[in-house]
Amino acid sequence: MTVEVLIPSSPAEAVELFGDGAGTTVIGGGTVVVPEITHGRLDPSRVLMLARAGLGGVSSEGETVTIGAAASIESLLDLGVDALAACARNVADIEIRGQATLGGNLCVGGSSEAPRGDLQGCLLALGARVRSSGADGERSEPLEDFLANRGGRLVLDVSFERPAASAYAALEYPHTHEYTVLAVSGARTASGETRLAATGVAGPGSRLPSAEAKASDPEAAGGAAVSDVSFADDALASAWYREQTLPVLVRRVLTQLQESA
Ligand SMILES: Cc1cc2nc3c(=O)[nH]c(=O)nc-3n(C[C@H](O)[C@H](O)[C@H](O)COP(=O)(O)OP(=O)(O)OC[C@H]3O[C@@H](n4cnc5c(N)ncnc54)[C@H](O)[C@@H]3O)c2cc1C
Repeated sequence: MTVEVLIPSSPAEAVELFGDGAGTTVIGGGTVVVPEITHGRLDPSRVLMLARAGLGGVSSEGETVTIGAAASIESLLDLGVDALAACARNVADIEIRGQATLGGNLCVGGSSEAPRGDLQGCLLALGARVRSSGADGERSEPLEDFLANRGGRLVLDVSFERPAASAYAALEYPHTHEYTVLAVSGARTASGETRLAATGVAGPGSRLPSAEAKASDPEAAGGAAVSDVSFADDALASAWYREQTLPVLVRRVLTQLQESA
């Protein structure tokens, strides 16, 4: 079967070609999609490649940071946001980070082998908003709403306010082949609100509201966090091990935030 390959040269053209997304496979950096095609697990008839769509920019206006969907993960390391830099640095290796995009990380699904989508947790903690297009046109919404309903959307960019402080802690071990088993991100806003989120739990990245409510007591917050998410087994770790470890990571993140006060 022939494949229709679309290479838009502007954001507007990408939006037009994507339309309502029906039957279209988006390729950001392709670090997930291209191997799927190569191994025959994905057989698209129409692909939209974002590499030249002008969606790779990163800009700051006042305290607001906006990152284009096609920005590489490597480019997030030096934006001066501690949790984002630490989280991005923990994704794969430098070759993958240079190719992989922010938009791909927000839209990628998990697999039975390893968690994917590490940036979701960090950006949830940062209170990010996602601008996307699809059947109902363009919309901008909090990342948690986007993650709950991301089918048929083309991510255009992500924006957030620079936090007063941010922190990141992850569980990893040598045989995970560059994947992050479980991670917690935290941010304190300029108004003093603490936000926490986890990845490596079942489903996409998730806020930890019960832990946030006890943020002034890291021990209690760690215990509360396990009721905010569910856990799954994969090739890297069991659900049981993740449940034991989440409180530790929450405590570490909150302690780091307290120390940066
Ligand atoms: C060795 C190795 C190690 C890895 N380690 C990690 C890790 O530690 N953490 C981690 O999170 N991931 C990891 N990954 C997975 C992957 O590299 C990342 O998740 C990466 O961010 C995916 O981005 P991409 O641009 O390459 O996505 P792509 O492969 O281009 O796309 C992924 C999905 O997102 C969709 N998509 C892409 N861009 C958009 C957009 N703008 N709008 C709508 N949909 C879009 C695609 O259609 C597809 O469904 C690893 C991969 C490898 C091979």
